[in-house]
Amino acid sequence: MQFHLNGFKKGDPDVAEPAEALAPSDRLPSEVDVLIIGCGPAGLTLAAQLSAFEDIRTCIVDQKTGPLQLGQADGVACRSVEMFHAFGFSERLLREAYWVNETAFWKPDETSRKNIVRSGRIQDVEDGLSEFPHVILNQARLHEFYLDIMRKSPRRLEPHYGRRFVDLQIDPNASDYPVTLTFERVDDGHEGEIETVKARYAVGCDGARSGVRRSVGRELRGDSANQAWGVMDVLAVTDFPDIRLKSVIQSDSEGSIIIIPREGGYLVRIYMELDKLSTTERVADRKITVDYLIAAAQRILHPYSLDVKEVAWWSVYEIGQRLADKFDDVPAGEVANRQPRVFIAGDACHTHSPKAGQGMNVSMQDAFNLGWKLAHVLRGWSGPQLLHTYSEERQAIAKILIDFDREWAAMLSAPLKSATNPNGVEPAEVQRYFVQSGRYTAGTATVYSPSVLTGRGTHQQLARGLEIGTRLHSAPVIRLVDAKPTHLGHTIKADGRWRLFAFADPQDPVDPSSRIQKLCDFLADGLGSPVRRHTLGGLDIDAVIDVRAVFQQSHRDLAVERMPKFLLPNKGRLGLVDYEKMYCPDLKSGSDIYEMRGIDRQNGCIIIVRPDQYVAHVLPLDAHEELAAFFDGVLKAA
Ligand SMILES: Cc1cc2nc3c(=O)[nH]c(=O)nc-3n(C[C@H](O)[C@H](O)[C@H](O)COP(=O)(O)OP(=O)(O)OC[C@H]3O[C@@H](n4cnc5c(N)ncnc54)[C@H](O)[C@@H]3O)c2cc1C
Repeated sequence: MQFHLNGFKKGDPDVAEPAEALAPSDRLPSEVDVLIIGCGPAGLTLAAQLSAFEDIRTCIVDQKTGPLQLGQADGVACRSVEMFHAFGFSERLLREAYWVNETAFWKPDETSRKNIVRSGRIQDVEDGLSEFPHVILNQARLHEFYLDIMRKSPRRLEPHYGRRFVDLQIDPNASDYPVTLTFERVDDGHEGEIETVKARYAVGCDGARSGVRRSVGRELRGDSANQAWGVMDVLAVTDFPDIRLKSVIQSDSEGSIIIIPREGGYLVRIYMELDKLSTTERVADRKITVDYLIAAAQRILHPYSLDVKEVAWWSVYEIGQRLADKFDDVPAGEVANRQPRVFIAGDACHTHSPKAGQGMNVSMQDAFNLGWKLAHVLRGWSGPQLLHTYSEERQAIAKILIDFDREWAAMLSAPLKSATNPNGVEPAEVQRYFVQSGRYTAGTATVYSPSVLTGRGTHQQLARGLEIGTRLHSAPVIRLVDAKPTHLGHTIKADGRWRLFAFADPQDPVDPSSRIQKLCDFLADGLGSPVRRHTLGGLDIDAVIDVRAVFQQSHRDLAVERMPKFLLPNKGRLGLVDYEKMYCPDLKSGSDIYEMRGIDRQNGCIIIVRPDQYVAHVLPLDAHEELAAFFDGVLKAA
């Protein structure tokens, strides 16, 4: 990590300089730039992202009287860990979490169908899909990591708890703060007090029963009835051998369970699919008890025993696979002449079964997609039409993920093939589908369609392994200046900046006629340089577009002092040199990023990466005009 840029600073480098003297207040502020409703994974991802910007006033509220303590989701996909790395807390997460390395499958024993036997055991995530594992950690701990980022941010952001969203109004004629939101206090001693806040933008991250969604006239469509689920986190003694492996267990006639080992080495989560509810029924009406769930798990695990010593948390909840048609307040027919002011994210716009572990992960990715866009518009870097891309991109992705979730959930619920049920599903088929769907569950299957933010694949052959529209698939590199083995993708922080990675061709980069030198000259001084054009005077040269280069030579064969000056920029109050812009392949370990990501060695290329880590474009090294045109489509001239 880099720090001391603006002078030596004592203490914890994760704690940012405070933006201004912020008087802590128990009251909601009267005016804010962004008001977030809901402190779940979606709301906290968005708040943590926005808290990075000292000039943006964000407020986040929740009807709960304090942070989540227990329960709810726990599966963290590889893609989410990649994002957490950009936020700076992946190491803490990985230390605490359970790592899902392998998954076991169990089915009825053919010789005695009331017993279960292991039918397979597979690697959970395919090799090389991500540098990070699929892990399991309590949702409450994830919330705590985000809250920590917010507390240490320039605005020292803390949620306001005990506020129930009541209503919102949008005034189309108000230019400054068009959204007025009303909250009712539900915390001790303040019950019933009403507060109003004016906001430039509001984001409903208020879960499946979202009031914000209702206020903007959107509704979830999909399943007509909910599926009931039982879930319990238990400390138990058992002779079931795969209790520390994620296990999908299908019994002959007692139903199925999913075992998810949890952090800490002892705790285990057991998911159980219960009945489909009728359209008017609530799961609470069934009066299901934890003893009922334990007894059902014991029957499914037969002939193994399960002696539950302690139940840490349990819940019976209902969920259907549903999706909102749009994730903002602008009706489809008015997109051309109206800008969005209110958004919904997470479970407020899509709900999934817990079988594929999508809910929390997709919700966080919604918020990560929206956060930088709101910041760009509020800071005047982009026009408000950029905000339409949030619903366009995320609604399309949510639809694909819900379709996948539906198929996967149906397969797990279907009766298994047997002598009495010849048309049932083969256990091997379940296993095959699990492997095939690995990219969805890992969160890496997202591909954004061509748009103002996502270029066409005209030059995709220059970087075959960095597909336009997908998240940047990182690879190991060596930092030129200090020979540090690192990962190229880890240079991306959740700071709202664009990245431009220039992969050099084989020519000596110090040769003035080399394409990498010419690109640096253009970016540094060219008339059409997007870096110059979109960066306000007075800001560091990489404040909006952070340019980094990767060379083919070994790091020992390049002389730092002769490299292009543009890649050694002077920055900050003291004009210190940023030495961390140049990288080489990790030849010692044999991990050559050019090979691994299919970069054309002869020609090199430019990779443009969005602030949320997605590949926006692949261009030739000398496509200066196309490069400038891409950024002109997204960013305003400074
Ligand atoms: C009880 C429960 C159990 C779950 N169990 C599992 C599970 O076992 N496995 C799994 O994969 N997923 C589970 N989920 C789903 C998973 O937690 C969600 O997919 C994920 O949390 C979605 O994140 P989110 O931020 O969109 O919404 P949520 O996490 O639901 O957060 C919404 C937040 O908004 C707040 N809020 C709601 N209405 C208002 C209002 N009017 N005013 C102010 N604040 C409001 C809520 O208090 C909440 O903090 C569960 C969800 C619930 C509610």
